[in-house]
Amino acid sequence: MTKPTPLIAGNWKMNGTAASVVEARAIAAQVSGQAVRVAICPPTTLIDRMSQALAGSSVIVGAQDCRCEETGAFTGDVSAEMLADAGAKLVILGHSERRAGYGETDELVARKVAAALRAGLEPIVCVGETLQQRQAGQALAVVTGQIRGSLPGELKGQAYSVAYEPVWAIGTGLTPTTAEIEEVHTAIRAALRDVFGADGETPAILYGGSVKPGNAAEILHAAEVGGALVGGASLKAEDFLGIIRAASD
Ligand code: PEP
Repeated sequence: MTKPTPLIAGNWKMNGTAASVVEARAIAAQVSGQAVRVAICPPTTLIDRMSQALAGSSVIVGAQDCRCEETGAFTGDVSAEMLADAGAKLVILGHSERRAGYGETDELVARKVAAALRAGLEPIVCVGETLQQRQAGQALAVVTGQIRGSLPGELKGQAYSVAYEPVWAIGTGLTPTTAEIEEVHTAIRAALRDVFGADGETPAILYGGSVKPGNAAEILHAAEVGGALVGGASLKAEDFLGIIRAASD
C-alpha cells in the first residue's frame, strides 16, 4: 500500500480580509515541486478571491465548515456545493471549535462529510480529546469513538484525511510528546483499518495543535503522522513556509 502524500493545511479560522491574500500569494510563490501537498483554508469570504489569486499554483484552497443540505432556508449557512462553486477543493469538518461552540455531534459531522463528498470536496475530519479526557485516561477511547462516529461509509475509496487535534493543544503553545502523538495516530490507523479494511491505510493522519516551525520537524517525522493542520502559524507566510519545509526534508 503506498503511503499517502503528506498534507500541510492552514486553518485561518476567522482571520483575514482581502489584504491577507498577499500572504497566500507569498506562500504559493515558494511552493512548487515539494513532496507535500499544501492547502490554505481561509474564511468563506476569501475562498473565491484566493482561488483566483492562486490559480496555476499548487496550493489548494479549502473551507472550514459546510452545511449538510445543498440549498434551502438556512440563513447564514453555506453548502458544500457553494464552497466548491467558489473554488474550494477541500473542507475541514468537525473542528473542535465547532464541536464545542456549535454542539456538533459525530453524527452531524458524518453527515457533513457525506455532503462534502457529494460536492466533490475532499474532507479533513478533525478528532481530539479535551484535557480532562486525557487526564482521565480516555484519550484513545474518545478519539477512536469520534473516528467511528464521524466517518461515514461513503468515505471508502475516497480521498480524505483525518486530523488528530488534542483540544488542549490548540492555540495554547502546548503539544503532546512525540510518544503520545504516535500512540494516538497508531490507534486512529487501527480504527480506520477496522472500519474500512485495507482502504483504511490510505488517508493521511495529520497532527494539529500548536505546530510551529520550531517543533514541526519532530512532529512531522513521528510514526503515522502524515502532515499537519496548522492554525496560528499558517497566518504568516514565513512561519507556514517553515513548517512546509520541515515536512519536505
Ligand atoms: C487548529 O485550530 O486547527 C489549530 C491547529 O490551531 P493552532 O495551530 O493555532 O494550535
